[in-house]
Amino acid sequence: MASPKGIERIQELSELFSSIPRTIVMKTDVVREGIRHTAIMDRVGTWAIPDTHAIFEFDHEETPDADPEAAGHTYAPILFHLKNGIGIRVMYNNSSPYEIRYEGSGQYRLYRDSDPMEEVFFPPKPRWLTKRTKSGKLMSSVMELRGETCLYLAPATFCEYFGKGMGCAFCNINPTGERHQQMGDERLVAKRGEDVTDTYIAATREDPDNRMTHVELTGGAFLDRDKEADLYVRMVQAIKKGIEASHGSDKQVRITVAPQALTEVGQRRIKEAGASSMCHPMEVWDRRVFEAICPGKAQNVGWEGWLEAVVRNVEIFGWGNAVTTFVGGVEMAQPWGFKTMDEALESTLSGFEYLAQRGVRSGFILWRRAPGSRLEDLSRPPTEYALRLELGRHELSVKYGLYRSEAYQPPAHPGCSSHRTNMDWVHLDPSLALA
Ligand code: SF4
Repeated sequence: MASPKGIERIQELSELFSSIPRTIVMKTDVVREGIRHTAIMDRVGTWAIPDTHAIFEFDHEETPDADPEAAGHTYAPILFHLKNGIGIRVMYNNSSPYEIRYEGSGQYRLYRDSDPMEEVFFPPKPRWLTKRTKSGKLMSSVMELRGETCLYLAPATFCEYFGKGMGCAFCNINPTGERHQQMGDERLVAKRGEDVTDTYIAATREDPDNRMTHVELTGGAFLDRDKEADLYVRMVQAIKKGIEASHGSDKQVRITVAPQALTEVGQRRIKEAGASSMCHPMEVWDRRVFEAICPGKAQNVGWEGWLEAVVRNVEIFGWGNAVTTFVGGVEMAQPWGFKTMDEALESTLSGFEYLAQRGVRSGFILWRRAPGSRLEDLSRPPTEYALRLELGRHELSVKYGLYRSEAYQPPAHPGCSSHRTNMDWVHLDPSLALA
């Protein structure tokens, strides 16, 4: 039987997953399906916080070319908010049931098929994104803004595993860079500390209420992991310099660093530079599927080496500050993956639990069939799978007290987690962070 359409589909999912807040049910479905690319979105893109496609592109439709003023990015909004503050990432897909319509008087609304859903709000683009650093770099090519509370930095926008034919099968980092260079976007392949400090200072000058409390760093992997650690150390030092210049040294800014699994020396150097938490994305828990989907990581570091590095971060960064992420659903990619949802869930949730018992926070980002990736044309598990996985992750976070970790303490950051829902539980129910 075909799934119901429009709002009835969300009602169906909400009834099936009655212990998940309805907002999270709907957001999960929007993130999986994407948003249709319409003329309204192009108009909003001229004034809203833009998607600079800093590292990955998830749009399955052409976005408009770079404009002379935008220069470093296309006119596409990166996210919108719901009335309750939850952020939802915009990822275009013209076969999605979701569309945003303009309803006059500055109001926008999300529709599923032709059913009106929630009013949505686009945060405006700050001026710093079109300014230049002292060395002349366009600031939107140095850092990205993910909602009003989070700055994002990709130290390197390329991955050396791709060059060796060993890129992760779901990933499109190098194709994204090539496409945006062809489109004429100003793009940097690796960042310099001075440009990062200049950009951080400019961004915080336009943040008089001090809402920007979080910086996330992730980028492509290097074959030489010590070289990668060097780059992250320089980036964290540059951000610290920016914090010192903008607010003095006592300002609490969480710096979350997500390189590939590093050696202990590399991890300790990044901690000493001032990072608050460390994430080494494992992508897939099952060893056999990991080796098939992530050949570069498997050959250069190995599944066991990766896991050891993730767990070692608990000792270095503290309980709850060691993180890993998975690509939710890619463990079912055929022909390598699990054949049934039950088997896939059992495997992935057993990984989450193994890690939670050791003080590691696990999260996942839904597999989006990134354009240009090797898995672009495969079919994905349905929204029900994503919701079962998220419910399992949430229940384990409660069981092992992981919502008490620093990352979930108020103010939580719903904007920067617009493509995942782990922060949203705490945003909707702050008592979870104290439980
Ligand atoms: S290590 Fe894998 S996921 Fe990370 S950038 Fe390289 S190919 Fe992409």
